Amino acid sequence: MPSSNNGPSALSAGTGRQGVRASIVGSLPKPAWLAEPGILQAPWRVAAGQLAEAQEDAIRLCVADQLRAGLDVVTDGEQWRRHYVWGFLSGIAGVDTENLVMKPTRGQRFKAESPAARLVAEPAYVDSPAARTLQFVRTLTDRPVKVTLPGPMTIVDSLADMTHRYSDADLALIFADMLNREARDLAAAGAAVVQFDEPCFNIYLERTRDWGIEALKRAIAGVEARTAIHICYGYGGSEVAAWKETNRDWSHYHYTLPLVAQTNVDQVSIETAASRVDYDVLDVLRGKEVLLGLVNVGDERIESAEEVAAGLRKAMRYVPASALFACTDCGLVLRSRAAAFGKMQALAAGAAIVNAEIG
Ligand code: ZN
Repeated sequence: MPSSNNGPSALSAGTGRQGVRASIVGSLPKPAWLAEPGILQAPWRVAAGQLAEAQEDAIRLCVADQLRAGLDVVTDGEQWRRHYVWGFLSGIAGVDTENLVMKPTRGQRFKAESPAARLVAEPAYVDSPAARTLQFVRTLTDRPVKVTLPGPMTIVDSLADMTHRYSDADLALIFADMLNREARDLAAAGAAVVQFDEPCFNIYLERTRDWGIEALKRAIAGVEARTAIHICYGYGGSEVAAWKETNRDWSHYHYTLPLVAQTNVDQVSIETAASRVDYDVLDVLRGKEVLLGLVNVGDERIESAEEVAAGLRKAMRYVPASALFACTDCGLVLRSRAAAFGKMQALAAGAAIVNAEIG
């Protein structure tokens, strides 16, 4: 049974929709006046003293675009954070997100080493920038709002332990407890959905089984909102795209999703548009809501509504319409604003086509 008190009726409040709904994984491109477009971790282009106001203005644009595109659940577009992991870590004492070190991450799937934040002391929860942003988004719309957080395993993979005090498993459970506190605060502040981004569940399969699932369970325990896990094959950057081009093994969900299915997480977000994942992976997710990735976040081509509808029809062999969301594969941060808007429109229009068919 779902862990939350907010049932499907609460989530669809304000949307008037009972069939397939449309949403995004989380991020949207930042306006060029806020940060350099097309790159991850782009530095801010606004002076520190004006940054908060500029981020709020960018969030206004993101929410307006999602409403105009016809999405049923909206996000803040992740306009206040430079990086999806380090945004959360910036509120954790003992973590240095400014002076980075190079570390092999993501199983070296995409490159040998990536910049990692440094753990320099015992980590301790201090602050929640996400809750303040959520409160602002809720002044802009009555639609359900989703907030995204990094998952415990992905945090550990993105962090270099300079104290050499912790195993990865121990550290993941410590962060899971802090994420749980944040998720409870976000639920209390009115989040309809709290999502944990765990791309590492598609990389470290044994670690997922051995302690990743336990960390997820601790992160979602007692959260009074719907909980979601997002598991993808990476952002839409060139290195990720190159890997997808040559990768032949798309079996990871067959290993991970049965484990996820045994948890109380309410929603599972997976990628299918830019990968060659077979829809039969959905078979084990009966009873869960599925956020089905039907637009590729790695290129500028705007999918047609009919393409989205075709994917939804295939998924409905496994997932009832009322539990299905047309969604992006991953965050849209690297796309142009025009492409991101077009892709969101395609998701909503594709859902509308299917909903008309099923009456
Ligand atoms: Zn992703």
